[in-house]
Amino acid sequence: MAGLFGKIQIGIYVEIKRSDGRIHQAMVTSLNEDNESVTVEWIENGDTKGKEIDLESIFALNPDVAPEEEIPRSPETPPPPVSNAIKTNKIPQNKNRRTVAPPKNEMPARDNRVTVGTTRARPSQQTEPPPSAPIPPPPIQHQTLQQQQNARRKSNCVKEVEKLQEKREKRRLQQQELREKRAQEVDTTTPNYEIMCMIRDFRASLDYRPLTTADLIEDHRICVCVRTRPLNKKELTVKDLDVITIPSKDVVMVHEPKQKVDLTRYLENQTFRFDYAFDDTSTNEMVYRFTARPLVETIFERGMATCFAYGQTGSGKTHTMGGDFSGKNQDCSKGIYALAARDVFLMLKKPNYKKLDLQVYATFFEIYSGKVFDLLNRKAKLRVLEDGKQQVQVVGLQEREVKCTEDVLKLIEMGNSCRTSGQTSANAHSSRSHAVFQIIVRRRGKMHGKFSLIDLAGNERGADTSSADRQTRLEGAEINKSLLALKECIRALGRNKPHTPFRASKLTQVLRDSFIGENSRTCMIATISPGMASCENTLNTLRYANRVKELSIDPSAVMEGHSAGHSLSQLDVLEAQWGVGSSPQRDDLKLLCEQNEEEVSPQLFTFHEVVSQLVEMEEQVLEDHRAVFQESIRWLEDEKVLLEMTEEVDYDVECFATQLEQILDQKIDVLTELRDKVKSFRSALQEEEQASKQINPKRPRAL
Ligand code: ADP
Ligand code: MG
Repeated sequence: MAGLFGKIQIGIYVEIKRSDGRIHQAMVTSLNEDNESVTVEWIENGDTKGKEIDLESIFALNPDVAPEEEIPRSPETPPPPVSNAIKTNKIPQNKNRRTVAPPKNEMPARDNRVTVGTTRARPSQQTEPPPSAPIPPPPIQHQTLQQQQNARRKSNCVKEVEKLQEKREKRRLQQQELREKRAQEVDTTTPNYEIMCMIRDFRASLDYRPLTTADLIEDHRICVCVRTRPLNKKELTVKDLDVITIPSKDVVMVHEPKQKVDLTRYLENQTFRFDYAFDDTSTNEMVYRFTARPLVETIFERGMATCFAYGQTGSGKTHTMGGDFSGKNQDCSKGIYALAARDVFLMLKKPNYKKLDLQVYATFFEIYSGKVFDLLNRKAKLRVLEDGKQQVQVVGLQEREVKCTEDVLKLIEMGNSCRTSGQTSANAHSSRSHAVFQIIVRRRGKMHGKFSLIDLAGNERGADTSSADRQTRLEGAEINKSLLALKECIRALGRNKPHTPFRASKLTQVLRDSFIGENSRTCMIATISPGMASCENTLNTLRYANRVKELSIDPSAVMEGHSAGHSLSQLDVLEAQWGVGSSPQRDDLKLLCEQNEEEVSPQLFTFHEVVSQLVEMEEQVLEDHRAVFQESIRWLEDEKVLLEMTEEVDYDVECFATQLEQILDQKIDVLTELRDKVKSFRSALQEEEQASKQINPKRPRAL
C-alpha cells in the first residue's frame, strides 16, 4: 500500500492548489485508500481548514513525493469476509481509511484487496532509475542546470500523470469485470452489503434441518406455526434483504440490524420456537399437511376446528388460505380452504363416517369494522345476536350445501370476487377485514362439527387507532381489539378456562362456539414478510404468536376484577342516558384490557370503551331514526284525516284542537328524544376524536 501513496506520509507538507488557483502548503492528515486520495489541513485566518485531494493532483504538484517503484498487481478479490459473530458483530466504518502513518517500506505485494497502481505502467520501466536519482540531462545547450532540472521534473510530471490515467483506465476495466463476476454471487451494490455479509456468514455456519414430509405430524390442541415467503418483486427492486432464517423444523430466526452509538452495525438474532416453522420454499400443500389437515377429523368427531392466518398485510395470509396468485388470478384450488374441503369429502367416504349420513355446507363472510357482511349474498349486512343461552347467531347468513370440492371452489371464487368488488386493490380492502370461510357438517339438520378458516385483517392495522381519519381509527380499534380478544380466547381454550372475553369483538363473538368445549382445536399460521424493511412488524407478529402458545402463564397475571384506574366518568354519564349499563361487551373489553395491560395503555383502553359505546350508539340512533320515520308516516295519515274532517261544515272544533294537540305533543316528544340522542351521539364522536389523540402511538403497535 505504501506504493500507492509514494512518499506521502501523515504529517508531511505538500503543495496544494485551491479552486481559486492559489497554491500553498498543507499538512497531510490521512491517507485514503478507498478513493485514492489524501486529506490535508491548513490554517487560514486562524481557522483549521481541510480538503480531500486525489493522488493524481498531489503528485502533479509534488512530483518529489510520487512513488518510485512499480506496484505489483494482484488479482482483485472481494473484501475479506466480516466476522460472523452475532450480537456483538462490529463492522468498522470506513475500513479503508487509514489515520495512522503506514510503516515505511510496506510492501503491497501480498495485499489481496483491490490494488490501485499509481506510477509505472510497464515492467520495463522498473529498471529505470528512480526520479530522484541523477538522470543524464538531455543534450540541450543554453540551459542552466536549474532549467534542465525543472524541465526534467516537468516532463516527469507529465509522464506521471499520463501513466496514472492509463493505469486508472486499466483498473476501471478490471474492476468492471470483477463487478460483473461478483454480481453473480452477491450484489455488492446492495445498500446493506455489510449486513448481508453478516447474515450470509451466519447462515453458512448453520446446519439446516428443515421440515420434510417425513416428519411426524403431532397432535396439538393448539398449534402455532410460522411461515415465511420469498422476497417479492417489490422488495427485490429496492434491494431489501431477507432477514429470516429457518434452520430447523420449528425454529425461526430474525436477524435484526442494529447500530451502536459509535455507528458500528451489528446483527441481533432473535430466535423463536413454534410447533412448526415453514421456510420460503414450503408449498401450501406442505403447510396444510401440518396445520389444518389434522383438524379435519375433529369436525367428524363432533368437534369445532379453527385455523387462522395472522400477519401483516402482504405477508402471505391470503396466499396461504385462499391460494397461490399467478399474476392477478388466484388459484383457489391450492389454498387451505380448498385443501380442507377436499379432505372433508374424502373423509366423508370413510365407512365410519359414511354411515352417519352427514351433509356438508359452506358459509363465507367478512367482518369489517365490527360488522358482518355475507360474501355469498352480495355482501348483505348481517346482525349478530346472542340468545339467553349465550348462543351466538349471525342472522340470515347463507349456508350453501356443497357436494364436492368443485362446489366449494365455486363458492370461494364467488365470495372472493364479492369481497374485492369495487376495490382498487385486493389488499387495500382485505387488510382491514377478516374473511371467514366455514365448512359445516350437519346430521339430520343438526350441527355435527364446524371448521372455520380465517384470513385475518393485517395486524399492522391495529396501530391505526391514532390515525387522523375517523373511519380508519374505528377500523383500527376493531382490529386491535379483535386480535387481542382472539389471543385471549385461544389461550383460554388451552387452559380450559371457563370465561373467555369473546364478547369484546365481533370476530370472537361469531367464533365463540369454537373456543369452548372439550373437542375444540385450533391452529394459527403466523405469516411473515422476510424483508429487513418489515422487521418490526415481523417481530410483532412472532411475539403475538408466541404468546398464543405460551400456555404456562402464571394464573395470577390474570387479575379478575382488578381496576386499572381508567377514568370512566364521561362514559358513566353516557351509560345513564343510553341505558346501556354495564353490558357483557363492556365487561369483556375490560377483562381483555386487563389481561393485556402491557400492550393496552389506559388511554387505549379508554379509547376502546369510547369506540364500543360509539358503535352501540350508532346502532341505536339508526334504529330510532327508522322507527321515527315509520311513525311520521302514521302521523301524516292521522293529520290527513284530521284536515279532511275540517272540510265538513259542522265539524267539531273542540275535537279537532284536542287531537291536533295530541299529535303535536307526541311528535315533539319523539323528535326531541331523537334529537337529544343525535346530539349526544355527536358529542361521543367528538369524544372519540379526543380519546384517539391521547393514545401513545407506540403502544398499540405491540399487538
Ligand atoms: P396478505 O394476504 O397477507 O396481505 P398475500 O397473500 O396477498 O398477503 O401475499 C402478498 C404477495 O406475496 C402476493 O403477491 C402473493 O402472491 C405473494 N406470496 C405470498 N406468500 C407467498 C409464498 N409463500 N410464495 C410465493 N409468493 C407468495
Ligand atoms: Mg390478504
